[in-house]
Amino acid sequence: MDFNLTEEQRAIQEMVRKFAKNEIAPLAVEIDRDARFPAETFMKMGELGILGLLIPEDYGGAGQDVLTCCVAIEEIACTCGSTALSYFAHAVLCAHNLACNGSEEQKQKYLPDLASGKKIGAIAMTEPGAGSDVLSIETTAERQGDEYVLNGSKTFITNAPVADTFLVYAKMKNAEANGMSQFIVERGFPGVSVGQPFHKMGMRGSPTGEVFFDNCRVPLENIVRGESRAMGILMGGLVVERIVGAALAVGAARTAFERALAYAKERRQFGQPLIMFEMIMEKLANMSMEMEAARCLTYKAAVMYGEGHRCSAEASHAKLFASEAAVRAASEAIQILGGYGYMQEYEVERILRDVRMGTIGGGTSEIQRLIIAREIMGRDSV
Ligand SMILES: Cc1cc2nc3c(=O)[nH]c(=O)nc-3n(C[C@H](O)[C@H](O)[C@H](O)COP(=O)(O)OP(=O)(O)OC[C@H]3O[C@@H](n4cnc5c(N)ncnc54)[C@H](O)[C@@H]3O)c2cc1C
Repeated sequence: MDFNLTEEQRAIQEMVRKFAKNEIAPLAVEIDRDARFPAETFMKMGELGILGLLIPEDYGGAGQDVLTCCVAIEEIACTCGSTALSYFAHAVLCAHNLACNGSEEQKQKYLPDLASGKKIGAIAMTEPGAGSDVLSIETTAERQGDEYVLNGSKTFITNAPVADTFLVYAKMKNAEANGMSQFIVERGFPGVSVGQPFHKMGMRGSPTGEVFFDNCRVPLENIVRGESRAMGILMGGLVVERIVGAALAVGAARTAFERALAYAKERRQFGQPLIMFEMIMEKLANMSMEMEAARCLTYKAAVMYGEGHRCSAEASHAKLFASEAAVRAASEAIQILGGYGYMQEYEVERILRDVRMGTIGGGTSEIQRLIIAREIMGRDSV
């Protein structure tokens, strides 16, 4: 398997790295402190083609693949977890999902505005009573004349407080078990309302909230692929979510490692730099190894996905390992920085608060282990 990036991928990596350094990094502390969504950054990302990375060129995007998106999101996550998370929900969970599954008319209507940043996207799957057990969602959809009527509520939805375009999963009323459908719901449709942003531990610049559907009226043409056809969309979407989510964790782990390495070279105790102490060397060696391993697992899953192979276990390997490695890296970075690491000024505490979400969202670590176990039980060999 070839993990060498193409010239085009390297150019995109360089462009996003520069943008992240110049435009995202300067706002990272402020948006975390004030729990503010960086709308201005999103507009600029739209202009540069970053928002539409996974959207085909025919609909205003850059027509890139999932591996390229992994490369890009690692650069964003290096500087700001919150911006990376909101970008992820918009560009991957919403826009890419719609690009894969929408009809020609739906793509023409919705994708150009998602690519430009004129509209912000979100995906609404989780409910108060249905998190890991996503198939138990209770939001219903019922056809009434030339509309569908949605009732129910969603929670923990990234971008909900600022989003314009939601992909919503609902069960057809009276349909057989798993009669799940997906709808494109505009914020302005009658019966849609959105709650206040939640107060979170981390990812504070990425607004998370509830969405309510109270006899929400959705035009017939806004169902994706047809009634009770969303199981495949849901499962396929979760695989991509896990791959790109892993890349987001790699970016955060990289910054935790780089900050800790720089500090360990500079800080002197007992007459020598910290990096000369073997226990500190061991921590840095482990961080470096885990970051590399996480990136390799992520690229492997992304390449397999791009080549059209089944890669559910590989996506879960990447997501599970990278998200847990990022938590370890951030925690060790704080340890290496000692008391300074515990202070907000040094920013590694923010990384720990941000990456803690990675072992929960997109399927918890426990659920990833279940998926991997079920996949290997069904295989004759690795
Ligand atoms: C910041 C943030 C952003 C999010 N963004 C979105 C979004 O944009 N869209 C969206 O739809 N959702 C989103 N989510 C929701 C996220 O996907 C869910 O939180 C996640 O799937 C877990 O569901 P839950 O929180 O209900 O936990 P639960 O499912 O109640 O799990 C609680 C605990 O029980 C464990 N558990 C559950 N079942 C099992 C089992 N079978 N075996 C072993 N252990 C088990 C879990 O691993 C966990 O440790 C977001 C969450 C967060 C925190």
